[in-house]
Amino acid sequence: MFKKYLAYTCIALGMGMLLASKSASAQEHDSAVQHLAQAIRFETISYQQTEKINHSAFDNFKSFLKSTYPTVFSSLYIQKISQHSLLIEWTGTHQHLKPVLFEAHYDVVPIEEGTLQDWQHPPFAGVIESGYVWGRGSLDDKVSVIASLEAIEQLLKQGYAPERTLLFAFGHDEEIGGKQGAKQIAQHLKQRDVELEYVIGEGGLLINDHPILPSSTVAMIALAEKSYLTLTLNAKGEGGHSSAPSQNSAVIRLAKAVSALDDNPFEAKLVSPVSEMLVAFAPHVGMVEGFLFNNQWLSESLLVSKLSEKTMSNPLVRTTTAVTMFNAGVKENVVSQQAQAKVNFRLLPGDSTEQILEKVTKIINDTHIEVVADSWGDSPKVANMNAEGYRRIQASIEAELPGTIVTPGLLMATTDTRHYSHLTENIYRFQPFTMHMDDSKTIHSTNERVSLDAVVNAVAISKRLITAVAKP
Ligand SMILES: [Zn+2]
Repeated sequence: MFKKYLAYTCIALGMGMLLASKSASAQEHDSAVQHLAQAIRFETISYQQTEKINHSAFDNFKSFLKSTYPTVFSSLYIQKISQHSLLIEWTGTHQHLKPVLFEAHYDVVPIEEGTLQDWQHPPFAGVIESGYVWGRGSLDDKVSVIASLEAIEQLLKQGYAPERTLLFAFGHDEEIGGKQGAKQIAQHLKQRDVELEYVIGEGGLLINDHPILPSSTVAMIALAEKSYLTLTLNAKGEGGHSSAPSQNSAVIRLAKAVSALDDNPFEAKLVSPVSEMLVAFAPHVGMVEGFLFNNQWLSESLLVSKLSEKTMSNPLVRTTTAVTMFNAGVKENVVSQQAQAKVNFRLLPGDSTEQILEKVTKIINDTHIEVVADSWGDSPKVANMNAEGYRRIQASIEAELPGTIVTPGLLMATTDTRHYSHLTENIYRFQPFTMHMDDSKTIHSTNERVSLDAVVNAVAISKRLITAVAKP
């Protein structure tokens, strides 16, 4: 998941102050904390250049899980998919019920070159200090994997038996698209004709200190995520010697094209689930804001213009355009005959690759520029917040952390959850851990860390979630 988008989502969704943690202190529950610290020490890094991936780290991580959660590994049916991803099946007593799938991933992003010295604790040391577990993957997303396994292990030891079959899918390549992990797990389930009641996966979470609602903890259940599309623009033009420059060279054409795209953003609009999110916030904000949030038929244009003003909230109301790469030229005295740019778009629910392609071609309006689309596929449809799955997640959060405000939301990033869209109508993105806005900035960045209370709470919420969704 991408740090910035997560941060934006959290900001836009409004989260409040840390409830004085109702859970027992981390010391009393230190097995989860210790296990997370250990989990961080395995350098399960996903590299874009897959030949750099150290497969033995992934093997060692799986062995660590096996020895740390002996009851899980001896009692439940566990399959390895594409060697490194895990699919854990906890068969229910009522086998006619459709299974629920929990999804998370244990691969992590690399440490950016030149930033290692900025870490307060080395990223793969798994240090526990100052109320935090420090390290790459502490938030994204090993905490979810560990919290789930910790919860299952405890429940198994208590003799708990779910009525509904529960599946736990732990991917190993989410950070590079999930094609070997989640995608293959989903295909495997499809071949077995498995239909899922719903999926609970990476995306939403609990935030303690949102500027809009500073006095409450807010839990966001993301009903949808934006789709991911990159367009490559290939410009061709006359080259030659720079002493007699040609008109409309490839670089100039491309520069005009990208600035036209920048000057013509896609229309801002209020779509589901952002409209539902605002309605959910209405009772908790001031009277005027509450009225506006509840009466969108009247206030839509005002809300859209307010939200689009800020970099943080603009992506909630718009398919965004970001020129991310520009390559051209071989020598300072040569007019280049070709130039290439990449433009990354994050699509609002309802917008399609075809629509974007058509609009972009129109905006660029230059037949010398070829536009090639590379899409991650359209995102799953918006999940139903009036369905049983949403209610059970909400009830589990409220039971464990009373006073938490639960809202639907839109995730700006793209996760593995989309690979499961053909198996279910409803994908709810919710991870059971709490964090402060400041800590969210450490995801995919320096000093990634999770608070000890958050780890303890994550296990408690996971147990509630498991027992709540396992009921018929
Ligand atoms: Zn992630």
